[in-house]
Amino acid sequence: MKGTSVLPIRKADRRILLSVPHIGTAERRYVQEAFDSNWMSTVGPNLTAVEAEFQKLSGLASVALGSGTAALHLGLRLLGVGPGDEVVTPTLSFAASANPIRYEHAAPVFIDSERGTWNLDPGLLEDFLVARARVNRLPKVVMVVHLFGQSADMDVILSLCARYGVPVLEDAAEALGTRYKGRVPGTLGAAGAYSFNGNKIITGTTGGMLVAPQKTDVDRVRRWSTQARDPDPLGINNYVHSELGFNYRMSNVVAGIVRGQLEALEDRVSARRAVFRRYEEGLADLDGIEPQPEAHFNGPGPDDPRGSRHTRWLSCFLVDETRFGMSAVDLIRYLDRCDVEARPVWRPLHTQPYYARYECLGGGVAEDLNRRGICLPSSSSLTLEDQQFVIDRIRDAHGR
Ligand SMILES: *Cc1c(COP(=O)(O)O)cnc(C)c1O
Repeated sequence: MKGTSVLPIRKADRRILLSVPHIGTAERRYVQEAFDSNWMSTVGPNLTAVEAEFQKLSGLASVALGSGTAALHLGLRLLGVGPGDEVVTPTLSFAASANPIRYEHAAPVFIDSERGTWNLDPGLLEDFLVARARVNRLPKVVMVVHLFGQSADMDVILSLCARYGVPVLEDAAEALGTRYKGRVPGTLGAAGAYSFNGNKIITGTTGGMLVAPQKTDVDRVRRWSTQARDPDPLGINNYVHSELGFNYRMSNVVAGIVRGQLEALEDRVSARRAVFRRYEEGLADLDGIEPQPEAHFNGPGPDDPRGSRHTRWLSCFLVDETRFGMSAVDLIRYLDRCDVEARPVWRPLHTQPYYARYECLGGGVAEDLNRRGICLPSSSSLTLEDQQFVIDRIRDAHGR
């Protein structure tokens, strides 16, 4: 990159952030109800309602938790993961996917991404399972992550795992509103986790949800999340603890926010997809910057309810340094100086100092996506004017 520091850079009035909360009016009403009725704890009508709404959306029994990380942690426990076990997980993800594996003193085995979805490569997974079945050392769980709002190729992964009897846990933290062949990612395996963190497609300021096919499993997780209190024989809350408990329950106030946000989910997906489309159009003629592909998995496209839909939670692009004239890293720095927040595609976990000692199958694709990937401001509340500012700055940067 040549001389960007001397360029006259027009500043936006305020910083344009990557992904910000987009709160409506229903949220206030539900939170106000919590205050008015003094349901200001981890019990209350918003919790009951948000779980019922989520069950409608997902088709599965649902339990509201304090975070997506907590949901993944209890999902792993539900599937029996403990010390010394191995859990397969994609290297291209946020650390929050792998951390709960370590909470249980189990070991992650990282697997590279495929180019078509940027998610877990089913071919590498098959090689791994074949090799491990031969030595009778199958992993305890395969964790799939649906990155940036796009589903992994679940039919292939599920049938592989079924062949070897390995349960699949889905990290759908970034994939609320995503569709896979008309189905809901997060509900296709043995358990699924969602997040309502402040930068996700909808938010409760924080929060998470765990879903599973068996209601008894979900009830068990709900009990774990409130310190695993069993009813006592006397019926006087002289608590009996037959299992290890956690303080992982969502609060009724947070549940009020999530409840309101869920009503707007489809709108938020449309808005994020529209943001992506405008980037795609606004950058189409520039050499060396290309959008993350949307996978159709040989089925219908995103507008068909039986098809697959990337939510474009984040609008991601790949930058080719030679053809674009600037590397992704330099483009992120350039945008930063214009008060635009962009971010690389996740740094692969096998390159993280903490995770470097764990096994990784492949890794070159994930490293390439991290090196060339850029996530652009993607908020559903992003104005046309702000987005045009971002597009113009990228156009300025091109060819420098
Ligand atoms: C956000 C996120 C999580 C964690 O969710 P929290 O609600 O922030 O705990 C887990 N996995 C992925 C891939 C995420 O993006």
